[in-house]
Amino acid sequence: MTDPISFIFNPINRMSEWREGDEQLIAMRHAENARAFLMAGEKIYHKKENFKFKLVSEDEAFFLGLPPNETGGLFVVNVPDNQHETMAQMGFEVSDLRTLAMEKRVDEATLGALGQAKSLLYWHKRYQFCGVCGAKNSPERWGWQLRCKGCNTEHFPRTDPVVIMLPTFEDKCVLGRQSRFPPGVYSALAGFLEPGETIETAVARETNEEVGLKTNTVRIIANQPWPFPASLMIGCISEVNFETLTVDSKELEDARWFTRDECRKMLAATHEQGFKAPGHIAIARLLLEKFVQGSN
Ligand SMILES: [Zn+2]
Repeated sequence: MTDPISFIFNPINRMSEWREGDEQLIAMRHAENARAFLMAGEKIYHKKENFKFKLVSEDEAFFLGLPPNETGGLFVVNVPDNQHETMAQMGFEVSDLRTLAMEKRVDEATLGALGQAKSLLYWHKRYQFCGVCGAKNSPERWGWQLRCKGCNTEHFPRTDPVVIMLPTFEDKCVLGRQSRFPPGVYSALAGFLEPGETIETAVARETNEEVGLKTNTVRIIANQPWPFPASLMIGCISEVNFETLTVDSKELEDARWFTRDECRKMLAATHEQGFKAPGHIAIARLLLEKFVQGSN
């Protein structure tokens, strides 16, 4: 049994039609059973294993949706930086999302919703001013739109797609490592999708840039919201020509071919040379598992 990949499971019902009119959500916002995540950039406030708190009336709350089997709405509130001391005095602990995911401290559904909230708040922080005229933006539609006070331009939350691929040839695949990875960890190759590219051409370009290989076919295997800060990871297994790698040392510390048997050992953390697969929060692990199962 393999672990689920973090952030993929987010069964919240966003009720996006409610964002259009205020009536429903104002009532929900002030209801006894309304709850909110309290966040500030990388900080997530919680008390032990509880991450959802009653809303205070003056808080500006963005609507995330209705969690399954709950009648109360779930919101997110951006806690101002100068409130950190006060929050600590009120008994709040602080964690970051990556640690919560790695340590499995929250259930998958809450983790998915926390990722949604974090990426939404990041967008608000980075788009305080209009990119067209420079005037201040103000939130609308319960946090899902910004409107410029100067030129009236509407801005919408952005998600940046990233292709992440496992290049394969028969029973071998290519994995690379960046210097920031923990010792021994090798992972799939990755890069941002650029304007005008398909997923397939982005995979071919990045593979060629990073390890010098020609890509023949690309299969999209899975995708994952990645809230660091606001991406969608598009996981692919590709077939490439079998050649010696030309590693781009600006991007990667090392890259090499691994056999299917080696990958199996890396996933089980039993590789004789100490090579390891990435952890369960990374979609790269899912790609490696698929490859090891022989479904490429
Ligand atoms: Zn403007």
